[in-house]
Amino acid sequence: MQSFTHETHATRVVFGAGSRQFLPRELDQRGIRRALVLTTPEQTELGHEIAGILGERCAGVLGSAVMHVPVEVARSAIDAARRLGADGCVAAGGGSTIGLAKAIALESDLPIVALPTTYAGSEMTPLYGITEDGIKKTGRDWRVLPRNVIYDPELTLALPVTLSMTSGMNAIAHAAEALYAQDGNPVYSLMAEEGIRALAHALPRLRTAPADLDARSDAQYGTWLCGTVLGNVQMGLHHKLCHTLGGSFNLPHAEVHTVILPHALAYNADAAPEALARIARALERPRAVAGLHALGQSLGVPRSLRELGMAADALDRAADLVVQTPYPNPRPLERVAIRALLQRAYEGAGPG
Ligand code: NAD
Repeated sequence: MQSFTHETHATRVVFGAGSRQFLPRELDQRGIRRALVLTTPEQTELGHEIAGILGERCAGVLGSAVMHVPVEVARSAIDAARRLGADGCVAAGGGSTIGLAKAIALESDLPIVALPTTYAGSEMTPLYGITEDGIKKTGRDWRVLPRNVIYDPELTLALPVTLSMTSGMNAIAHAAEALYAQDGNPVYSLMAEEGIRALAHALPRLRTAPADLDARSDAQYGTWLCGTVLGNVQMGLHHKLCHTLGGSFNLPHAEVHTVILPHALAYNADAAPEALARIARALERPRAVAGLHALGQSLGVPRSLRELGMAADALDRAADLVVQTPYPNPRPLERVAIRALLQRAYEGAGPG
């Protein structure tokens, strides 16, 4: 067996339908007395429900979270947390809301309790991003890792079906790249394979029965595992491509992951045969790339960058940006091959 290091950073995780009712207990566990509740503008109703559960321990509800954490939004949230005397944050939402809580934690060390409502997995990672002058700066800091996470599947019932599918594919992407990460280890590989398996089973059930709480819960179980590996091992070409396309061309996060994943895995297939075999096993399909492509088709998710609003004449610049800085990937970064990958993804062609 290959040598490896395994380090754990504890997050307390609570699962179960209705488990948001345990929020006061989780705050007690962290010694939080006054929590600022964060949501997006679209989810303020949820924020007020959470405020009701917290009662006098709610310092306020701030519904200002938006995608990619603009620095002005982060600064104003940091000010609000100070002004309201908050000693912790409750982030009720997806990656955007949890991202805002992380920006506050980075500045003030306030502990985060997260109630995820998508399958993006940010609640299990020390990764943060803040956008200034159109450039998203990302980093890793264990201070921003949520200390407590409550996976209540009832909070995902309102997530539209299409976003449920693409968000689930976003989670699968974390696990797929963890399986060939150079700093991976056998424990994270187990989690990654099980995470893919759980989501590949849950998503088709959710597509036909979006109110199926068991399927919602299974998807959150997969999300937990996929988010954990995202937070602990280095991602490769797939995440780099998605980060570039989302950050520099303003394409929607989960949808980009969904379109790119089979193409990125096809690029790496010959250089990472063991990882691909594990992905195929988790999908219960003979081959990983074809299996993911077929899963996407069965879920009715977007297939092309064109339908996400990417301009054809931006593909050259995207390829340049992706190869600009070196990062770990099983197959070396070859601009010509990456440009061809982007062309296929743009057109919605099958992965090469
Ligand atoms: P999101 O948080 O941006 O949510 C998308 C939209 O769906 C928002 O309008 C939100 O209000 C709405 N929504 C969320 N949950 C809902 C629900 N249950 N019911 C109804 N509406 C709901 O989407 P996301 O994909 O979770 O997050 C994307 C962002 O998170 C990106 O900025 C990405 O870079 C970041 N992210 C960070 C990490 C990390 O580890 N730091 C991991 C994954 C994603």
